[in-house]
Amino acid sequence: ARRKLSSIRKSNAKTLDGTPIDLLANIELPQDVEGVLSAGAVGVGLFRSEFLFLGRDTLPSEDEQFEAYRKVVENMKGLPVTIRTMDLGADKNPRWLNHGVADNPALGLTGIRLCLAEPLLFRAQLRALLRASMFGKLQILFPMINSLHELKQALVQLEYAREELRDEGIAYSAELPVGVMIEIPSAALVVGSFLKHVDFISIGTNDLIQYTLAIDRNDDSVSHLYDPVHPAVIKLILHTLRTAIKAGTPVSVCGEMAGDPRLTRLLLGMGLRKFSMHPANLLSVKDIVLKTHLDQIAPLVGRMLRSEDPDKIADLLQQLNAEPA
Ligand code: PEP
Ligand code: MG
Repeated sequence: ARRKLSSIRKSNAKTLDGTPIDLLANIELPQDVEGVLSAGAVGVGLFRSEFLFLGRDTLPSEDEQFEAYRKVVENMKGLPVTIRTMDLGADKNPRWLNHGVADNPALGLTGIRLCLAEPLLFRAQLRALLRASMFGKLQILFPMINSLHELKQALVQLEYAREELRDEGIAYSAELPVGVMIEIPSAALVVGSFLKHVDFISIGTNDLIQYTLAIDRNDDSVSHLYDPVHPAVIKLILHTLRTAIKAGTPVSVCGEMAGDPRLTRLLLGMGLRKFSMHPANLLSVKDIVLKTHLDQIAPLVGRMLRSEDPDKIADLLQQLNAEPA
């Protein structure tokens, strides 16, 4: 039976067979926290911190960043907050950063690459995050990692930031989970090598689709080819999920796929138990979770995962979503 979405705002997200599902929210600015709590999210799964750096002429100082991160973790009242280190470059270029114009910005100096090229900038952010970790349940997430080498370099910078704070007698939490985004196909393929270096994994499907299919995520002329259920994309997500689950490493999806109710059952069937999305999508996704029995969807999802035929996958997806609860 159809129900008003607002009626499920307070109910716990779990499937009909009783499996609990975590539904978290993505935010861009500290003031977005209000919408996160009213949507009933159990945490912030992705705070895109780069928005603090955009639309201004100067770089925000370490103290200014610290205040912003502290505000978010405090306002989330003990719920977990995953803060992604600045993911600039590509389509997000601040005025104060002058790295020239690249021919292929999406393949250029973005995300963690930019941070490793500008270690002082990066370390100021890491110090601000470490300091804010005293005030709530903060987790750090590195974007656009493409190899173990890069991940290790990012972790070294984090260790330097810790050492600096220690030397200065500034407090930070000893328990600060660190995660890596899987959003480049190379990272998805070698995700197993990351596991012993991180506490959690978050799959960024927006970029994963873009880089797997060679489709610019912002180019309208090819948007009809931007296909979240392309069999190659599904294989990479599945490999990432299975590798993390097998190792007991928490894994979430924080790309737009997590907030698309048409894909909720597929992702549940693939093993996903943690979704992070725009708060506006949270209740629609919860509605599907509440109407899904994992055993019942398993056969159809199994057929989708074995297929390499996009037409067949589209057909199976329709059947999957038409299944009654
Ligand atoms: C992603 O790539 O899926 C993601 C969550 O990050 P962004 O959309 O900010 O690139
Ligand atoms: Mg991304």
